[in-house]
Amino acid sequence: MKKKLAAFSLAAMLAAGAAVPTAVIAKPIETGYTQVLDQFDKKAIRKIDVDRIYNHIAVLSEAPRVAGTDVEDRAADYLRNEFKSYGYEVEVQPFTFTGYTEPTRLSLTVDGKSGFSPGNFTYGISGDVTAVLADGGLGTPADLEKADVSGKIAVIRRGDISFAEKVINASRAGAVGVILYNNTAGPLSGTLGNHDDELIPAVSLTLAEGEAVLAQLASDPGTKAHLLIEGAETSERTSHNVIATKKPTNKQKDTGDIIAISSHMDSVPGAPGANDNASGTAVTLELARVMKNLPSDTEIRFMSFGAEELGLLGSRHYVSELTEEEKDRMIANFNLDMVGSRDAGDLTMWTVDGQANLVTDLSQDSSERLNGKATPFAAGGRSDHVPFHEAGIPAALFIHSPTEPWYHSPEDTLDKISKEKLEDTAKIVATAVYDRARFDNQNRKDKKRVENKVLIDAFYEEALR
Ligand SMILES: [Zn+2]
Repeated sequence: MKKKLAAFSLAAMLAAGAAVPTAVIAKPIETGYTQVLDQFDKKAIRKIDVDRIYNHIAVLSEAPRVAGTDVEDRAADYLRNEFKSYGYEVEVQPFTFTGYTEPTRLSLTVDGKSGFSPGNFTYGISGDVTAVLADGGLGTPADLEKADVSGKIAVIRRGDISFAEKVINASRAGAVGVILYNNTAGPLSGTLGNHDDELIPAVSLTLAEGEAVLAQLASDPGTKAHLLIEGAETSERTSHNVIATKKPTNKQKDTGDIIAISSHMDSVPGAPGANDNASGTAVTLELARVMKNLPSDTEIRFMSFGAEELGLLGSRHYVSELTEEEKDRMIANFNLDMVGSRDAGDLTMWTVDGQANLVTDLSQDSSERLNGKATPFAAGGRSDHVPFHEAGIPAALFIHSPTEPWYHSPEDTLDKISKEKLEDTAKIVATAVYDRARFDNQNRKDKKRVENKVLIDAFYEEALR
């Protein structure tokens, strides 16, 4: 439950453009091994065509693919058609979620004066209220009772408890609106976590603006404010996962194991999402194409999820629909998210617990055969490998770290995509997967694991309070 909330708030924080701590640059590690590509590696990568990957990104990144919108639907159609054209059986898996549309208009006047820069909270509601202000302190029930906020707009400072608690406390105390100001420099953006019938209209202000409002209120206790929020909407929406399955080519030799190669197709509002995550989606497509006819004794599922940016919704739905038997059979999840930015750091793998697993083992081996250097791994969540991990499936995220400056911005466009990075990632994953999925290669000998653990800050809660 907490994890779900955490993921949700993170998505909203990212959507709001807040600064995100990233892993320290992880450099590939020289291991001193001297391995070379074997015939199976060569088979797995021979047909990889980076121009095809690039062209998928060009198609997918024409417009932001926001979850539950027509553009995301079109991306799902594109994936289904591509997978089908390679000869796959394709499953399209719909799921619903509570979606939120940001307000189209947000304004605040205090004592008839505008000049503020009010911000919105995700899941904030629309409203048009005019009322006297009251200093609601930190928005605790005690603060609000002392301030007598009934029928008034409560001015509340950030801190101690979540934004949602502050707004709902004010609502229960009879307030008609909330102005929630920052307790540190800079704009305040965050989320109320979810829709709640008790919410009342709320806007954010900077610390300086909040203090100016309180100074005005101190000089004139009858100070009124007008708070207007238009176009904010919470509603039930539908997104889709698209899954193509490669069955073992020889039924007699079926190991029963399943390897999942995943990505997410959606992007945040306003971002064309060329790197996040048309890149991973496009590599998933190309891996499906080149691996279609490779002899294998392990099932490989190629998939792209919807609504990752809203809190890993598609992958959570997918994993929740797996039977216990399928979860037992699923031995690895290779999750590709942001694997083509010219301006990001080096390729790294993130595992939720920071521990090595089958995915990192196979990939360190394969990257070493390909590049002479093992791709390092670090601890990190924040993408669709998390639900797999939570289900007990060895999983890792492939991402270039640190992320590029235009992550989640309108600048996440095709011109900043590096074909070299796409190709490198595609080859490492293809050879890692095929090392395990090809016939009779189940008993890997223990290899030295190359660790480069970089703990990623536990910042998930930040957007909530
Ligand atoms: Zn992403």
